[in-house]
Amino acid sequence: MTKNDRGSLIRPVPLPESASRPVATPLSPSVVYASDTPDMLDAQYEGDLHGYTYSREGHPNADVVARTIDAMEGAPHMGVVVSSGMAAVSAVLLGLTKAEDHVIGGNQLYGRSLRMMAEDLPRLGIATSMVDPGDVEAVRAAIRPETKMILVEVVSNPTLRVADILGLSALAKETGILLVVDNTFTTPRSFKAYDHGADIVIHSVTKLLAGHSDVMLGYVSARDKALNDRLRVFAVTAGMSPSPFDCWLAERGMLSFELRFDRAQSTAAKLAKHLGTLEGVKRVIYPARRDHPDHLRAEALLKGQYCNMVSFEIEGTRAAANALARGAEGLSFAPTLGDVGTTLSHPASSSHRALTAEKRAELGMSEGFFRVSVGLEDPDALCDVFTSAVQAATT
Ligand SMILES: *Cc1c(COP(=O)(O)O)cnc(C)c1O
Repeated sequence: MTKNDRGSLIRPVPLPESASRPVATPLSPSVVYASDTPDMLDAQYEGDLHGYTYSREGHPNADVVARTIDAMEGAPHMGVVVSSGMAAVSAVLLGLTKAEDHVIGGNQLYGRSLRMMAEDLPRLGIATSMVDPGDVEAVRAAIRPETKMILVEVVSNPTLRVADILGLSALAKETGILLVVDNTFTTPRSFKAYDHGADIVIHSVTKLLAGHSDVMLGYVSARDKALNDRLRVFAVTAGMSPSPFDCWLAERGMLSFELRFDRAQSTAAKLAKHLGTLEGVKRVIYPARRDHPDHLRAEALLKGQYCNMVSFEIEGTRAAANALARGAEGLSFAPTLGDVGTTLSHPASSSHRALTAEKRAELGMSEGFFRVSVGLEDPDALCDVFTSAVQAATT
């Protein structure tokens, strides 16, 4: 064997030593971690010694993200970071159930969560019911002896209805059923799910927490240690592992999360007021408004933090909707939320396209219905953009 330029070894140069520490978290893309001896590795697997082994099982960048969200949520155990929000939903729905169980879900859950409830769980012999999470008696009526969990979002997409979390958590406690809260929309800045009785908390980190539309990541943790462990084992076994680079970007995004959220939320309140004054806007949906159907509940649950999502409706057809999207100059017409920039989405052509027009009308989502995820623009400039866009669409 001939020697290469570095001597005969492939990795002869150890990490340079430094008495001081880096301020920014180093990116650790290593898939494997070397231990000194079989005894040491044994101690790591037994949990007597903390040390990473193989990055599917865990890595430093994922743990930094987990600890950051744990602290915000007040999670009692280190949560599990997974490759997307849907991986987190899947870890809960598939990792904690078995055939013949029953799961109740909010009837306005995120589209893919609804699909998993409607298609995948039944295929595996797990029955599901979709119920209005604002109606505790309807949820109670749906409970069966084999009901395992209730999965809800605090504020629904895109009609911004607010779930009766206090009623649901009392019901869950009374019946011994797990209450699972997808806290993506509200975030711990607006709603601390564990303080309100949640047993399991889910996040799409992709959205507001990471905040820059350049990372896809999810998070889940459980109040109960054994359940938290089961979620981790399932996520690892199912290969839901997150990339270190994505975790590193998410950590960077989360450094400014609170500032971003507060700014976006105050601009959203301003935009909601402004939209209400525009000729051509039929309806504005924002939980801070007194005409919001769940205003009092939102006030009590969200403690004045009404989040960054505003929906509104203009009179008209697809042509008017096209004119509005075109007229919203400088904003992205894109089906996501939580980006640093304001994004505009149109449920009838995206998230709710699979429904019939009649069904959408029943849910209050006509062709003129838009959802706005408010970002960090100058509030007055943003209001001006909407003035022009609505004008373009309605005159
Ligand atoms: C986006 C979203 C998800 C899914 O998250 P991904 O990271 O896109 O997989 C789940 N729940 C809610 C409420 C969401 O908005």
